[in-house]
Amino acid sequence: MKIKNRIALQFSLIVASILLVFSVTIYLTSANFRQEEFFERLKKKARTTVRFLIKVKEVDKSLLKIIDRNTLTALYDEKVLVFNNQNQLIYASVDDQVIHYQPSLLDEVRQEKEVETFSGDNELVGLLYDEDGEQLVVLASANDRFGKNKMLNLRYTLGWGLLAGIGVTVVLGIFFAGQSLQPINRINQEIQTITAKNLRQRLNEGPRQDEIGQLAMNFNLVLERLEQAFDQQRSFVSHASHELRTPLAALKSEIQLGMRRKPSPDEYTEIMKNLLEDTDRLIGLSNSLLFLARTLENLDQLTLKAVRMEDVLFLAQEELISARPQYRVAIDYVNIPEAETETLVQGNEELLKRVALNLMDNACKYSPDHRVEVQIRTDNSHCWVDFRDQGIGIDSEGIQHIFEPFYRSGNAKIYEGFGIGLSISQRIVELHQGIILVESQTGRGSVFTVKLPHL
Ligand code: ADP
Repeated sequence: MKIKNRIALQFSLIVASILLVFSVTIYLTSANFRQEEFFERLKKKARTTVRFLIKVKEVDKSLLKIIDRNTLTALYDEKVLVFNNQNQLIYASVDDQVIHYQPSLLDEVRQEKEVETFSGDNELVGLLYDEDGEQLVVLASANDRFGKNKMLNLRYTLGWGLLAGIGVTVVLGIFFAGQSLQPINRINQEIQTITAKNLRQRLNEGPRQDEIGQLAMNFNLVLERLEQAFDQQRSFVSHASHELRTPLAALKSEIQLGMRRKPSPDEYTEIMKNLLEDTDRLIGLSNSLLFLARTLENLDQLTLKAVRMEDVLFLAQEELISARPQYRVAIDYVNIPEAETETLVQGNEELLKRVALNLMDNACKYSPDHRVEVQIRTDNSHCWVDFRDQGIGIDSEGIQHIFEPFYRSGNAKIYEGFGIGLSISQRIVELHQGIILVESQTGRGSVFTVKLPHL
């Protein structure tokens, strides 16, 4: 069922229930009131009749009958019977129309003193009248035609009012539900036109104040993030294929060179050496790409534990020096940590080592003296590690892009590299709730700082 119809249905059911309860209450209260009032009227009539009969000497039965007949409205079909101690009828206001009653009613009246009951369509009241030791039972009965007609009228009015109320509620419910959901339909239509090819399109956010405006706004934010992700993916793929093509082209031309003429043993060794270098480069690149694409996607599955930053730095230093013995890595403290936990971070040692290795490697690679100074400092919430070099530096344009995959600044192109180390490092540090900062001056050197929350 559509939301519009569901809202209209629920709304109509609620209003119909309220109207129904309201109408039934009004009807029952009025019916009760009418009956009570009519019984009271009959009681008054019974008392007046018996008082006339007994107390007013000037009025005898035949005169009372005449009075009764002339005052009783035939419309009410009113009758009064008076019985003595022996249950003998001593007075009847009418001769022809009798009151239908159970004989036991007279005894009941003597016991209860006052009885309200019914005789067919008529209301019937029984009263005990005590006069000088003589107990008379008076039965008065009448049909409240006017009152019942009024009740019938009320029933029709309430019934039709109820139906009309429900009808109007259904129509208004459908109208207003449709009206309120109209913007959702519009958003739905707009969303249907958005595909992977036109992610640049945005939803109309309207005045932005209601929930639907907020929905459109949030959807636009999602679209923006998706668009960015798509763009990154696109540029990543194009850069990756470009990076892969260069060493593959080099490999191909070397192989062609080797095939074209018979190489001398020295040339052969040279070609093989070049092939090996290019293959190594390809392996390095595809490993990095794989790491970037797969490992970082499955970060949730990585186990994090308390890792000491000094250990990470020494491991990275050892690995770097064994691969590039000409590099120099000096590790030191700026301040001696006040507590042991100040250099303990919650993280993955392998990944953090990769970050340290990349920053040490870059610092040494881009410095003529191949030296990096690594300094550890702490405060009460974070552990900071600076990687300082006196190398070629990065210009202000480069600083804005160095964390993008495959970006390499102009002055770095003569050095070996793919431009993905820093983007991997940044993702790893962000995973550890940290940040990487950089300060640099061309020709003077750079400082990369990793800031991580400690335990
Ligand atoms: P790669 O070093 O393989 O090119 P990175 O992602 O590690 O890739 O670095 C991206 C770019 O940032 C480098 O190409 C270089 O332009 C710049 N860069 C990084 N570290 C330094 C540094 N210590 N000194 C100067 N430039 C740097």
